[in-house]
Amino acid sequence: MSSQADSYDYIVVGAGSAGCVLANRLTEDPSVRVLLLEAGGKDSNPWIHIPVGFAKTMAMPSVNWLFDTEPDPYTYNRPIPIPRGRVLGGSSSINGMLYVRGHRLDYDGWAQFGNRGWSYDDVLPYFKKSENRENSNSEFHGAGGPLNVADMIESHELLDAVVETAEGLGYPRNPDYNGAEQDGFGYYQVTQKDGRRNSTAVAFLNPARNRPNLHVETDAHAKRITFDGTRATGIVYDKAGVEKEARAGLEVVLSAGAVQSPQLLELSGVGRPDVLEQHGIDVRHELAGVGRNYQDHYICRLVARINRPITLNEQTRGLSMVKEAFKYAVGRRGILTFTAGIVYGFVRSRPEVASPDVQFHIAHASFKDPKKRIFDREPGMTIGPCQLRPESRGSIHIKSADPFEAPAIRPNFLSEETDRATLAAGMRIGRKLISAAPLSQYVEAETVPGPDCATDDELIDFARQTGATLYHPVGTCKMGSDPMAVVSDQLKVHGLEGLRVVDASIMPTLVSGNTNAPTIMIAEKAADMMKAEHR
Ligand SMILES: Cc1cc2nc3c(=O)[nH]c(=O)nc-3n(C[C@H](O)[C@H](O)[C@H](O)COP(=O)(O)OP(=O)(O)OC[C@H]3O[C@@H](n4cnc5c(N)ncnc54)[C@H](O)[C@@H]3O)c2cc1C
Repeated sequence: MSSQADSYDYIVVGAGSAGCVLANRLTEDPSVRVLLLEAGGKDSNPWIHIPVGFAKTMAMPSVNWLFDTEPDPYTYNRPIPIPRGRVLGGSSSINGMLYVRGHRLDYDGWAQFGNRGWSYDDVLPYFKKSENRENSNSEFHGAGGPLNVADMIESHELLDAVVETAEGLGYPRNPDYNGAEQDGFGYYQVTQKDGRRNSTAVAFLNPARNRPNLHVETDAHAKRITFDGTRATGIVYDKAGVEKEARAGLEVVLSAGAVQSPQLLELSGVGRPDVLEQHGIDVRHELAGVGRNYQDHYICRLVARINRPITLNEQTRGLSMVKEAFKYAVGRRGILTFTAGIVYGFVRSRPEVASPDVQFHIAHASFKDPKKRIFDREPGMTIGPCQLRPESRGSIHIKSADPFEAPAIRPNFLSEETDRATLAAGMRIGRKLISAAPLSQYVEAETVPGPDCATDDELIDFARQTGATLYHPVGTCKMGSDPMAVVSDQLKVHGLEGLRVVDASIMPTLVSGNTNAPTIMIAEKAADMMKAEHR
């Protein structure tokens, strides 16, 4: 270990969705010195920035941690891939770019648990602060913020037919699911600017990179937090095989994400004694909730064969692809600007629920093997429902005291009856869509799971066999004041000083939508709290 540790006011661990926001906002005050540590490298891979490159970075170890779940009986002991960004921008550099805030009741629920300052009315200003919404002057959206939120550049006749069909079935055409109402169908809003990905590295970190009070260290893997008694004093990290130490005069902030923030706490002796002792780690501070309360969205995909060659399956091959590459190079248009889900649906599986409990990700493309993601040779479309507020709870705990060993991820997807029933209901709504006009005029047949899968039990069995994460792990360092809470509503780790967690892991419950925008909001709010406290 270096004998002379570098000193900063704040050390932020992880340059992901949250970490890049913090690095920017905290260094707005030139008197404050910040070290941002990132285990991954620079975001120089071109596939990060071309939207359709999402499909490539999903399997790229240079920018992706490529975790897998542990065998889990509810999903037939299949290892389920858990991709996570390992690069500047973190998961915002490899995600699907869908800009979704969730439902106002999600945040009101957080406030109802006793988290002061986290109701919808409290957090809306932070969503707006981060945002530059193109072509909108809605009271729900921001203008001039660092994060660019655009409409999807391209539309498509098959996807237009989805929205029209949904409208015919009674689901409204909703021009802004991030506005007054979430229910309905339409095209997703995306974190893109001029046809390129707007990650938090691009939106928040790059504009702050030249500030003399910000030091960004890439390829720097945090190994543990250092303490003086109960006060966090710094971080020990690995840089190219050399152990280094940095000190934080004010605070250490963990923004390593829902998988690795609990891992770092456990490696540092903070967590459940049974877990720590099993791996020979001395208990510095007992905190039962570390790594518990894990929640994630679980998606399964219906595929329909389309009766004409108008889908991405054909357009991403041969001469068509050459034309599209040219179109993108010249004007940043065409299919290379598409994301994984293009049209959304937020629906209620039962009339009695107070807000949508199923979200659809719909695209005019299909693949049989979700792991390989090679498009089918025949024209196809995919309709993917997920249950928005899963009741299943899992855990993430270290498997050893080695900071380079991936933790054990146990989501327990579909372990609760509500989750299974809601997913089956979502699949049935997907089926209704493809069998109603005008969409039905394009559909030759449902190929996955196919007509043999008819009863609820068969649909659930299909979901168990083929479903996957929608990449939204949260909750493993949850905010609250109950015995399982890890951080307070100020995001300070209970029972310790000088230590906060600021990332998706603090969500007490999963929001009703994708998690990038909510994580950015959390970091915006945390930066304000930290500034106010240390002013
Ligand atoms: C493939 C994929 C698709 C997604 N699609 C969408 C979408 O379309 N829309 C949406 O809203 N959300 C999406 N999400 C989810 C969203 O991107 C995440 O919820 C969000 O980025 C989480 O932010 P975070 O700051 O908590 O963690 P991350 O952004 O993952 O950042 C954590 C950072 O910490 C670093 N780190 C971890 N451990 C260490 C360590 N020991 N030392 C130093 N650094 C460390 C990591 O390398 C990473 O850069 C997707 C996620 C993935 C992976």
